[in-house]
Amino acid sequence: MRVVIVGAAGRMGRELRSTLDEFPSLELRAAIDREADAASGITTGLDAALVGAHVMIDFSSPQTTVANLESCAARGVAALVGTTGLGPEVEAAAAAAARRIPVLIAANTSLGVTLLVELVRAAARALPSEFDIEIAESHHRHKKDAPSGTALALGRAAAAGRGVAFDEVRGTAREGEMPRRAGEIGFAVTRGGDIVGEHAVVFAGAGERVSLGHVATDRKIFARGALTAASWLAGKAAGRYEMSDIIGLKSII
Ligand code: NAD
Repeated sequence: MRVVIVGAAGRMGRELRSTLDEFPSLELRAAIDREADAASGITTGLDAALVGAHVMIDFSSPQTTVANLESCAARGVAALVGTTGLGPEVEAAAAAAARRIPVLIAANTSLGVTLLVELVRAAARALPSEFDIEIAESHHRHKKDAPSGTALALGRAAAAGRGVAFDEVRGTAREGEMPRRAGEIGFAVTRGGDIVGEHAVVFAGAGERVSLGHVATDRKIFARGALTAASWLAGKAAGRYEMSDIIGLKSII
């Protein structure tokens, strides 16, 4: 199966390339970034690279996600998008692309976080709404978006578990006098050093707290998960897929 990696010169792109040899069924068709670099085999021009490819793995920038999905749809290439900080316009582009190709957008491709998302959905469904939900995340100093795409995915799962619209309960950063709104899902962000990624979801009730969390210590987990997802996705029918589809979690929680 031939794979095109977009954002190949970045932290995740390099990790994906160095993890490829663990996946003998995957073959690198092209490594794409903004600027070509012959020494490291990086080229530009996604459209040409997609010819003859089976799946694109995109860990680059939210500015290019819509165009990349359109390119994949035009060439019948499956699309796995790991980029975070995506704008609202990506949903419509993903829905359009999913009519022609398999599309998986995952803010976090680790197995552990995929499980955590489902556990949070189940906990939010099980616990009464008197339990306040707060989500805290920490990442390295270079991360561009905040809260992280994973924190937002956890918030969406919690809202879905409670049967409420995420946009109506998403909290804003609390500064100065800003009491907690009933039912809101709050977010707290830490940026610093080389933290790979930490997420904690707290359900705080009167007299008790439930805490669920995940700590990433090695970026390889995202690369392995993305490559597993890419080999699963290529060849699937057109449509939208999620990481939990790959490991069959939806059926057990
Ligand atoms: P990075 O800044 O190290 O790398 C991004 C790379 O994309 C750079 O080399 C940049 O030149 C390239 N790029 C940007 N725009 C491009 C374009 N238009 N065409 C081609 N290449 C382009 O960032 P990173 O740490 O590798 O993270 C990349 C993205 O992946 C971020 O959005 C990050 O939040 C996300 N991420 C997702 C997961 C996950 O599990 N889904 C894990 C880690 C990071």
